[in-house]
Amino acid sequence: MSETNTTELIFTPYQISEAEEYMSEAQLEHFRQILWQWKKKLMAEVDRTMHHLQDDAVHFPDPNDCATLEEEFSIELRTRDRERKLTQKIDMAIRTIDSKEYGFCINCGAEIGLRRLEARPTATQCIDCKTQDEIREKQRAMR
Ligand SMILES: [Zn+2]
Repeated sequence: MSETNTTELIFTPYQISEAEEYMSEAQLEHFRQILWQWKKKLMAEVDRTMHHLQDDAVHFPDPNDCATLEEEFSIELRTRDRERKLTQKIDMAIRTIDSKEYGFCINCGAEIGLRRLEARPTATQCIDCKTQDEIREKQRAMR
């Protein structure tokens, strides 16, 4: 099962007009649409996973199949878990759109940027803070 990413979403990259402020109403609306579309897609995927799990449980009474089935189950449950976490992230992003805090870095308050948000609508950090975090994480892992 492939992971949902925004490249599967259909939207026109936002064209900012010259006098326009960052995260204007129109921009917030643009990202709200993207996030809703993403969430809807994800929910449909969750539905599919659920049905798949139920179907398999009925169709494999053989104990040998059960082992593979268990494996399959755990893979699907992991997928479900990832989908659930992603849904939470999307919900959180939609909430920050509602409160008009969307699009700013939670660490330093800098603008995350339209293009970065279109690639990663759930991003909560600017690219600098994100990079810093990743470096720190790598250093921690090496110790
Ligand atoms: Zn930052």
